[in-house]
Amino acid sequence: MPKQASPILFTNAALIDGVADEARPGGHVLVEGGVIREVSDRPITARGARVIDLAGRTLMPGLIDCHVHVIATIADLGANALLPDAIVAFRSAQIMRGMLMRGFTTVRDLGGATHALVEAIEEGLIEAPRLVICGKSISQTGGHADLRGPVDERDFGYQARRLGALGRIADGVDACRAAARDEIRRGAKFIKIMANGGVASPTDPIAFLGFSREEITALVEEAQNAQTYVAAHLYTDEAIRRAVECGVHSVEHANLIQPKTARLMKERGAIACPTLVTFEALKNEGASLGLPPASVAKIDDVRLAGLESLEIMRKAGVTMAYGTDLLGPMHRHQSEEFVIRGQVLPAIEVIRSATRDAAKLLRMEGEIGTIAEGAQADLIVVEGNPLSDLALLTHQGAHMPAIMKAGRFVKEELR
Ligand SMILES: [Zn+2]
Repeated sequence: MPKQASPILFTNAALIDGVADEARPGGHVLVEGGVIREVSDRPITARGARVIDLAGRTLMPGLIDCHVHVIATIADLGANALLPDAIVAFRSAQIMRGMLMRGFTTVRDLGGATHALVEAIEEGLIEAPRLVICGKSISQTGGHADLRGPVDERDFGYQARRLGALGRIADGVDACRAAARDEIRRGAKFIKIMANGGVASPTDPIAFLGFSREEITALVEEAQNAQTYVAAHLYTDEAIRRAVECGVHSVEHANLIQPKTARLMKERGAIACPTLVTFEALKNEGASLGLPPASVAKIDDVRLAGLESLEIMRKAGVTMAYGTDLLGPMHRHQSEEFVIRGQVLPAIEVIRSATRDAAKLLRMEGEIGTIAEGAQADLIVVEGNPLSDLALLTHQGAHMPAIMKAGRFVKEELR
């Protein structure tokens, strides 16, 4: 990406920095060389800088979505896995551009995206958020990433090689270790495993436990050897408890968690990544978008417990990161997770889930999700105060006149 030529000085901003509880009025922020150079409540002098008076508008860190699938171009994931790679790549570029234009400057992909997409972004071939990948998620035969139905007799090997597949299959401790090592080799920054049944897969009811304890423990060891962690797809209390006991760090979804398990998560420092919006979208649009009937039948098993799970985890003090998990045309609902969570959580906590707490989960604290000296200049300008109205973050970026990634405007309609 070309660097912004001259420094940019934002003045008179109401700062939501991801740390303080309230927006701080009268903030000044200097951006130079792609990073935040200075933050002050007093005027900053910067020779040669372009000065942008925000006149009290909100300036906050670019948003972070910690659970996306940028290659999920249609709701039927089995069919998605069989699309030509080039079609998936071009559609994925569009999906990611949509995310960026909603103010998401970083997204963590939980299965499917490959290092080639990361390279395409870094090379400036496509305009997209920073992309943090796990490569293909790892599932047992018949688990949540086994997209073959009960009468499909193909060998599973094709999944690991297709861009449109969310996951790959491994059975047994040795195969799990090999799959994790292979994903790390292919550029994964963490390991994603399917340790519970799922909605968008054909042969695994929600309550199914994915992998043996020995397999999960081996996958965790492989991730830790590579200086990273395991994120696991989990719904039921039993599955979450087992996974956290085995060392899983990032608990995806967590809809059916109970207080005792939430306290265990807190004890072990595990982080949750709820994704409530996807169940609302699947409920409303899934069937008409081609989600197979076996999947539609499972939605309410997890959807109805969503808000309660947030309250249980908040009470236990579990850190929660922002996630959405949307598929195909449902991606346009990505920002509605803010409003859903706002029904039971204070707005500042919801915003932190997509800024400071998300950065913590990505192990990029101080680098993204904050307005602080030395951080990446990933910034959004919001008309009004999202702390009093989280819906300002929705509507496809309509209330965001400016979006900046790494010091470069990807949207600028400030005048
Ligand atoms: Zn997912």
